[in-house]
Amino acid sequence: MTTSSIPATSTADAPVIGVLALQGDVREHLAALTAAGATPRQVRRPEELAEVAALVIPGGESTTMSKLAIIFGLLEPLRDRVRAGMPVYGTCAGMIMLADKILDGRDDQETIGGIDMIVRRNAFGRQNESFEAGVDIQGIEDGPVEGVFIRAPWVESVGGGAEVLATFDGHTVAVRQGNVLATSFHPELTGDHRVHKLFVEMVRRA
Ligand code: GLN
Repeated sequence: MTTSSIPATSTADAPVIGVLALQGDVREHLAALTAAGATPRQVRRPEELAEVAALVIPGGESTTMSKLAIIFGLLEPLRDRVRAGMPVYGTCAGMIMLADKILDGRDDQETIGGIDMIVRRNAFGRQNESFEAGVDIQGIEDGPVEGVFIRAPWVESVGGGAEVLATFDGHTVAVRQGNVLATSFHPELTGDHRVHKLFVEMVRRA
């Protein structure tokens, strides 16, 4: 193991990946990242954000995350890092945070943005609070990933730069644009670390 005095970006084999720890299922992502070969860190303050090579935005409640990001002075630093090319992966509420535009959000709700897509909050949730379903994801081998959908959003539409990686029931549920990855569902809750491994691989190549 390397020591904390070594800069985050120099540990190429086990990159230091932050988990935005304002709210949501932070612990599950920390565990999944470790299992996928990364060195995870919690990120709550701008100084902590500056020390990570990449970031995961967990599931939770995007309206609360938006509020806390503003209170903690993180919203603009997050936007700056994403614009500068930092790899980011958002699950569920994290997907909402990475959308350039959202539907059914709160009036004062802000997103970080990064993917040219329109995401509808609670889109699956209105029909079905929570369900699981197999999802085939482009770039992931050995069969479908078990998608855990909890009051999940879906992607209403994507712009030219964004690539649809998975659909379920006719709706887009996984998207990538450059170094930014987002899923409607929660791979961190399943013990299947293939999506986190895909992200760690994106970080290694960035
Ligand atoms: N419905 C939540 C939101 O709007 C997302 C739910 C989740 O992350 N599981 O943020």
